[in-house]
Amino acid sequence: MEDILTVENLKIHFPVMQGLIFKKPVATVKAVDGVSFSVKRGETLGVVGESGCGKSTTGLALMHMLQATSGRILFEGQDLAGYSRAQVKQFRRRVQMVYQDPYGSLNPRMKVKNIIGEPLEVHGLAKNRQQYDQRVAELLRMVGLLPDMAERYAHEFSGGQRQRIGIARALALEPSLIICDEPVSALDVSIQAQVINIFKSLQKRLGLTYVFIAHDLAVVRHISDRIAVMYLGRVVEIASRDDLYQNPRHPYTQALLSAVPEADVDAENKKQRIVLQGEIPSPLRVPSGCRFHTRCPSAMAQCKTQDPVMSEHGGGHAVACHLYA
Ligand code: SF4
Ligand code: MG
Repeated sequence: MEDILTVENLKIHFPVMQGLIFKKPVATVKAVDGVSFSVKRGETLGVVGESGCGKSTTGLALMHMLQATSGRILFEGQDLAGYSRAQVKQFRRRVQMVYQDPYGSLNPRMKVKNIIGEPLEVHGLAKNRQQYDQRVAELLRMVGLLPDMAERYAHEFSGGQRQRIGIARALALEPSLIICDEPVSALDVSIQAQVINIFKSLQKRLGLTYVFIAHDLAVVRHISDRIAVMYLGRVVEIASRDDLYQNPRHPYTQALLSAVPEADVDAENKKQRIVLQGEIPSPLRVPSGCRFHTRCPSAMAQCKTQDPVMSEHGGGHAVACHLYA
């Protein structure tokens, strides 16, 4: 399968301005600081990391809603930065986002049919009322909701139902790629699996590609084909899902995985929980050398000064850590 999306050494830095009248930059927030990965058509790439690691910022850049400071994002081989207006409009149909907060992202005063149908109107895809209503009913059915819910308001629904409405809206323009930014994090655990199953069945049916952002490895386990682990603006490890869970290499991935509850392991084989020291550092002050060295249980002398580069270890399993150089 060809790559639908390629990210090359993406950096998104924000200047911190100070001064009352003459503002000048006094520092730089390195929210995304050299991220590279690619996504194949029809697959799900899970992107995992603690809050502040740059995963949402990366997601916004993939949506063409934030400009890259440097590096490139290619969608179907074309650099987003070089898009004409017409290409941006086309892109807005092909790539959609599902947001974390199903309460905040839907207008509570809008009827469900207008929330879902609005993109159809904006892009002139419904010729008349009847076509519009039919398409809205079809989209509701696709996410497991009843067509007569179209006349109700978003605030009348539960979190899980609202997230289904958000997914239906994202599907309205028949996208090929959906960026899912923590789409189940705000939901009860019992509802999370249902929503993930909807994502999975839609992918099968419609051939969708997902970038699925989450803050823990438990959530992405059942949906991802491959997983990228991010720390402080970088991807530190990327591998197929099974490879990552069975053979995590980066000390940060090992720590994240040790926190994932295992259902089917006897007491003897239970893994030790690795508790990391301290908080994730501020992207205003990225540590020298390996940016994880301030918290890494395996840190060595060279880790303080040398920034490890990504190296491949077969089967597309790549890691940025001096232990594997
Ligand atoms: Fe830890 Fe060093 Fe590897 Fe960084 S390079 S993850 S500090 S062992
Ligand atoms: Mg976020």
